[in-house]
Amino acid sequence: MPPMVESATGFTLGCDHCVSGSPNEQAAFNFEAAFGQMKLKEGQGQEKSNAWGRDQKRGEYNTKSHVVLTTHPRRGSPIQIKWGATSPAERGPIIATLSQPRLRNAIGTHNGSYSVYRSIAVAAGKMDPMFRPDLHNTAPPVMIPPNPSWFDPTKIVSMDPWGHMIVDSYGSHLKEGVDIRPTIAITKAHIQMLELVEAMEKGRLQADGNILQSDGSCVVTKAAIEHVWYLPGVAQRFNITEATLRRCMFEQTGGMFPELITRSDLEVFLPPIGGLTVYIFGPAEYLQDPSKVCTVRVHDECNGSDVFGSDICTCRPYLVHGIEECVRTAQNGGVGVIVYFRKEGRSLGEVTKFLVYNARKRQEGGDRAETYFHRTACVAGVEDMRFQELMPDALHWLGITKIDKLISMSDMKYNAITGSGIKVLERVPIPDDMIPADAHVEIDAKMYAGYYVPEEKRAIINDDFVKQSKGRGLDA
Ligand SMILES: [Zn+2]
Repeated sequence: MPPMVESATGFTLGCDHCVSGSPNEQAAFNFEAAFGQMKLKEGQGQEKSNAWGRDQKRGEYNTKSHVVLTTHPRRGSPIQIKWGATSPAERGPIIATLSQPRLRNAIGTHNGSYSVYRSIAVAAGKMDPMFRPDLHNTAPPVMIPPNPSWFDPTKIVSMDPWGHMIVDSYGSHLKEGVDIRPTIAITKAHIQMLELVEAMEKGRLQADGNILQSDGSCVVTKAAIEHVWYLPGVAQRFNITEATLRRCMFEQTGGMFPELITRSDLEVFLPPIGGLTVYIFGPAEYLQDPSKVCTVRVHDECNGSDVFGSDICTCRPYLVHGIEECVRTAQNGGVGVIVYFRKEGRSLGEVTKFLVYNARKRQEGGDRAETYFHRTACVAGVEDMRFQELMPDALHWLGITKIDKLISMSDMKYNAITGSGIKVLERVPIPDDMIPADAHVEIDAKMYAGYYVPEEKRAIINDDFVKQSKGRGLDA
């Protein structure tokens, strides 16, 4: 056992796995042993909070208590994950709990970026760090069942396909007391957008009392998904080595997850980023049936437009158009899907996005399509960080093998989807009358740069076209 060291924060540092045993004993380390030790510790009741360093009298962490480091390579995880295995038992549960450090077989933790807020809740004494969720009655009302893509370790690499089936798949582990958390939750909802009421008034949509109600609300099944990255698969998707991926993620997060470097035995990472939400219009079981017409929009978050109606881009109108098409498809006996990714401002974030808006509008010659991408790269260092390579995973999880109507003009999205083996029969552009006043710069620049252009418009997308497209000034 190595000596404890005093850190700059006053905490003593040590490694959880250094606490017992010779190398031979360590080699014999297995799930039963780890779990037995863990239960013994938990049996000490009152001691358990103290093991995490909380001084229960003052509600603050005791700086003399032991901080558990997780950075050293271990003698292997107690439960190995076999990514792409055909049964949940063979694949193994993903254990990213912080309450049972010895059982962890993943880097990072649950709840994406919200894990940082959880740390404040615990630090402020509002939450017990050992809290376990009560999953009673949380099961999906609509099931997304396994399909062949789940069993191909290359088809889905950024989410856990079994993430909504934790209770059924790992019930015996849960009964034993293993802290396994869902990374997907499915529920049902009514959604209402003003534009859908307007579409009904204008006769573009008709209520049917099932998919679309007379008040303009849509009945949907929705699924929230947290990222669960299988690092070898993610690296392969970007055609880079796993070592390069791990090193860059470690460095570019300011060293947030040292295990990316030190724990090559852990191949699964739960990144602290926003996830995605799937909205299904019509019967979910149709998604796995290629004889049914399927309409899809994969949409990347744009808070300014999606929620607040900013007119500088086409995001919300295109989203609404996607929903309209999904409703129509479902009403005609098919199924529609919107996948909403938390990739604000092309994954650059809103601060960068607003800086770019200013730079675009203040540049010499004003905001124009000709310099649209260049101005983004000047501020962000890159034109786009959404990298659609991981996006098709959600479609494969749903069991989609063919998309009749893809409501997108993005060549990156189209190439990623078709490159992953899903057929796309038709690409649907945003109707001209839905493009907001100041958004022509964006859509024109994208069409010029290689986005899908409908046949009738191809002749006009040339150098003159992109030079003519101008936006409003900053003070206008
Ligand atoms: Zn936008």
